[in-house]
Amino acid sequence: MNFIPLHGPTVSVLTAVVVTLMTSVALAVWRFNRGLPGLAQWALASLGGFAVLLVYLVRSQLPELVAVLITNFLMLGVACLTWLGSLAYLGKPLHRRKPAVLAIGVMLMVVVYFTQVQPDLRVRILVQSWGMAGFYLLATRTIVTGGLTRYPARYMFGLALAGHAVFLATARVRLLVSGNADLDAGKVILPALVGLESMVFFILLTLGVVLLVIEHISNKLIVLAETDGLTNVLNRRAFMAMLEKACSYANRNGTPLTVVVIDLDHFKRINDTWGHKAGDDVLRSFVAVTSSVVRNEDVIGRLGGEEFCVYLPETSLADAGDVADRIRRACAGNAVATGGQVIHYTASIGVARYEANEMPDAVIHRADQIMYRAKNLGRNRVERQEDARVPT
Ligand code: GH3
Ligand code: MG
Ligand code: MG
Repeated sequence: MNFIPLHGPTVSVLTAVVVTLMTSVALAVWRFNRGLPGLAQWALASLGGFAVLLVYLVRSQLPELVAVLITNFLMLGVACLTWLGSLAYLGKPLHRRKPAVLAIGVMLMVVVYFTQVQPDLRVRILVQSWGMAGFYLLATRTIVTGGLTRYPARYMFGLALAGHAVFLATARVRLLVSGNADLDAGKVILPALVGLESMVFFILLTLGVVLLVIEHISNKLIVLAETDGLTNVLNRRAFMAMLEKACSYANRNGTPLTVVVIDLDHFKRINDTWGHKAGDDVLRSFVAVTSSVVRNEDVIGRLGGEEFCVYLPETSLADAGDVADRIRRACAGNAVATGGQVIHYTASIGVARYEANEMPDAVIHRADQIMYRAKNLGRNRVERQEDARVPT
C-alpha cells in the first residue's frame, strides 16, 4: 500500500516527536494568551492529538472496543474542537456545539456496531474519516472570512484545514479501505503516508494558530492606537487620517464634504461642580447621543478635551447645518444621570465646507473658528461657514 517508499517506524517516531513539540507550543501559546477567544478550544484540540498518540502507543494492551472507542472519540473531538475554536475566535456563538456532540455520539455508536456486532474495519474508517472531514470543512467555512489581504492568517489556516479534510475524505479512505493486508492483520497501525500527512497537518495547524494569535493581538493594538480610551471614538490622529482619505475622495469625485466641530459649553464648570468622573460620564453620553443622530458613514473623532469633530461625506453645507442642529438639540435635551445627580449641558457648533484641494487641517481650523463665533454669540448654537461670511 505504500506508494512512496516511506519507512513506517521512522514516520511513527517523527510523528510522535512533532505532535509532542506542537502540542507544547499550542499549550504555551494558550498559557500566555488565556483570554484570547478560540485558543482554549485549539489548545484542547492539540492535547487531544497528543492523547491519540499515547493511545496508539498502548493500543495493543487495550481491549479492541475500548481502543477503537477512545481513538474515534479523540479524533472526532479534535476535529470538532478545531471548528468550535474557529467559531469562538470570530466571536460567534457556540450554541451549535450540542448538535455536534450529538453527531459525535451517533458516529461512536455506529463505530461500536461495526466493531462488536458486525465487525467491519472499512466502515469504521469511513465513518471516522468523513466525520472528521466534515468538522474540518465546517471550520474552514467559518474561519475563511474578511478578505485575504486583510486577514491572510485565516486563509492559511483555512487552506490547511481544507487540505486535511480532502485528504481524510479521499486519499486516507482510499489508502485504508482498499485492502491492506497488514492493516487487517493488525501488523501496522497506519500506513506511513497517513502518519506523514497527520504530522504535516499538525505543524500547519499549530503555525496557523500562532499566526491567528498574532493577527488578533495586532488588530487589537491597531484599535487601541486609533481609539480614544474614554469615549471609544477615533482619536485625533486616526480621525485626521480618515479625513485625509475623505478629502482625497471629495477632490477626485467633486462630491461635497462638510466638517462639524463641536465644543461642550462651560465644561470646566461641570467638572468643578460635579467632579471629573461626572465630566467623563457627560463626555461618554455626548458621544452616544451624537452617534445616534448622525448617519453610519459620518465619522466622529475626539480632537482633544471636550472638543469633537464629525465629518459628513457627500453632504452639503445646508444639510450639515441641519445635522449640526440635531446634535445641538440632542445635547441640550440630554440629561446625564451620574452619581445620583442629573447633569444638563449644551454645545457650540461650527460647520465648514471642504474647499477643493485644501489641506484637511485648513477645513478643521475654519470650522473651529466658526465654532468660536457660536461661543461668542452666546453658546448652545450652530454657526455655518456662510453665516460667518456675513459682515456683522
Ligand atoms: P467654553 O464654553 O468656553 O468651551 O468653556 P469650557 O469650560 O468648556 O472650556 P475650557 O477650555 O476652559 O475647559 C475645558 C475643560 O474640559 C477643562 C478640562 O479639565 C476639561 N476636560 C478636558 N478633557 C477632559 C476629560 O477627558 N474628562 C473630563 N472630565 N474633563 C476634561
Ligand atoms: Mg468647552
Ligand atoms: Mg474646548
